[in-house]
Amino acid sequence: MHSSELVLATGNPGKLAEFQALLGALQVELLRLDPSVPECPEPFGTFVENALAKARHASRHTGKPALADDSGLCVRALGGAPGVLSARYAAAEGQASLPRAEQDARNNQLLLQRLQGVGERRAHFVCVLVALRHAEDPEPLIAHGWLHGHVAGAPAGEGGFGYDPLFVLPQRGLTLAQLEAAEKNRLSHRARAAAQMAQLLEAFWGVAPSAQHQAI
Ligand code: IMP
Repeated sequence: MHSSELVLATGNPGKLAEFQALLGALQVELLRLDPSVPECPEPFGTFVENALAKARHASRHTGKPALADDSGLCVRALGGAPGVLSARYAAAEGQASLPRAEQDARNNQLLLQRLQGVGERRAHFVCVLVALRHAEDPEPLIAHGWLHGHVAGAPAGEGGFGYDPLFVLPQRGLTLAQLEAAEKNRLSHRARAAAQMAQLLEAFWGVAPSAQHQAI
């Protein structure tokens, strides 16, 4: 395979654009998942199982190779929570489902509550990417990216989403919500996982580097 089409297992157009840019070193065309494809359940306790389930679901419904991601925040003192429940941390603890911004604010509040009086604040974001050639592919490509930091005592910054206002990057002394979007996107767990996935796609599926990349 030289140039490659991959269905990205998400209905989120922002994510499609982000991953297309992150995989720009390769001749990969990411395709949007048709909105008629039913949502995939994510019932598993690990990122890799959820990403694999989403990739398989997308590939089964489209008949094409698929790429799926799963990501979240893991806090050391909480045994890795909120982990796979990151998006619905507060909702999973009994609060009703809310619009995204409000849900993010409640998730952040709950995280601060859980860490009240806790000195160990280390945490990391993780992104797992899974690529499958077809729904029964016995050899999924699996890439990981991490971003290490710690949880602040109070939110700071207006940018980003999710836990960005609480996540401090020690080397910058700022939360992700205080960084320029371009800087965050360059450092992010998604960028790191995508770089690893690009290497795997080239090495194992023979996906060709993009023209600009070859010229360098
Ligand atoms: P998803 O797998 O990309 O949907 O991410 C799941 C959840 O993890 C999001 O809803 C956020 O709560 C959290 N999360 C993932 N990546 C980030 C990030 O870059 N910043 C802040 N929160 C994130």
